[in-house]
Amino acid sequence: MQIFLTISEYRNWRNSLASDAKIGFVPTMGALHAGHASLIRAAASENTFTVVSIFVNPTQFGPKEDLSKYPRTLSEDVALAEKEGANIIFAPTPLEIYPESPTQMIFGIRDLDKKLCGASRPGHFNGVIQVVSLLFHIIQPHNAYFGQKDFQQFLIIKQLVKEQHFPVHIIGCPTQREADGLAMSSRNVFLNEIEREQARVLSMILFHLQQKKADFDSIESMKNFAHTTLAQYPLARLDYFEILSENNLTEIANLDTESYAHAFIAVFFGTTRLIDNLRL
Ligand code: AMP
Repeated sequence: MQIFLTISEYRNWRNSLASDAKIGFVPTMGALHAGHASLIRAAASENTFTVVSIFVNPTQFGPKEDLSKYPRTLSEDVALAEKEGANIIFAPTPLEIYPESPTQMIFGIRDLDKKLCGASRPGHFNGVIQVVSLLFHIIQPHNAYFGQKDFQQFLIIKQLVKEQHFPVHIIGCPTQREADGLAMSSRNVFLNEIEREQARVLSMILFHLQQKKADFDSIESMKNFAHTTLAQYPLARLDYFEILSENNLTEIANLDTESYAHAFIAVFFGTTRLIDNLRL
C-alpha cells in the first residue's frame, strides 16, 4: 500500500494505470472503524484499486463544532485500511486541498440540504459538497462508496453526481452497528460511560418503529413514541426526529400508502451529536 500526501503524487500514480483499471474510492475523515472497513471491503471486492482518502474537511464544520478535537489516528487508520484491502491512502493537508483557503464555492442541492442535519448544521452540506467534488476531480474514481449511516449525505452526493455529470457510480453501504445497536461513528469515543450506555436509545427507537410499524396509526403517533422514549434518557437531548420519504426527503402524509417511509434521528449527549436512520 502507498500513502500519498499531495495531489501531484496521486496524479502520477493515477496516470500510470492501465486504461481498463477500475478505481474504487472511499472518502473518510479518518478515525476508521468497522463502518469504514465495510466500505473499504466493498470497494476492494469490486475494483482493481481501492483508494481511501483521510481528510478532516474544515469547511464542513461550523464555527462552534468539534473540528479541532475530531479524532486523528493516522497510523491506526493506515493499518486498518491496508488490512481491508486498500491500495492507496490519500491524506492531504487542508492547504493542499484549499490552497486559497477558505474556499468560497457555494452549492445548492435543491432542498435536500435544507432539512435534518442541514437545518441543524448550517453550511455543513455545502462543505461536504465542496470536498467531495474536489476529491472526485482529484481521485477520478469509477465507483465511490458512501455509508447509509449518513443517509442525507448519501442522497445529496447522488444528486450532485447527477447534476454535475460526474462519471462516478455511487454505491450506498449499510450502517454497521455495535452489539447494542448503536451506529458506529468516529464520534462515539467522545461519549462517557453513562452517555454510551444511553446512546443505544437512538437505534432502539428506530428498530421499535420498524418492527411495530403496524401498531402505529399515524406519523404523529410515531413521533410521540420517539419523544416519550427519549424523555426517559436524561442525558439525551433531541435535535430532530423526522419521518420522510427516503427518495427525496419530502414529508409523508400517510404511513399506509407510503412504502419509502424513512425515520431520521439526531440526539446530543453533552456536546456530542449522534445521528441514525432506518427505513420503516
Ligand atoms: P466519516 O469518516 O465519518 O466522514 O465517514 C466516511 C464514510 O464512512 C461515510 O460515507 C460514512 O457514511 C461512512 N460511515 C460512517 N459510519 C458508518 C457506519 N457505522 N456504517 C457504515 N458506514 C459508515
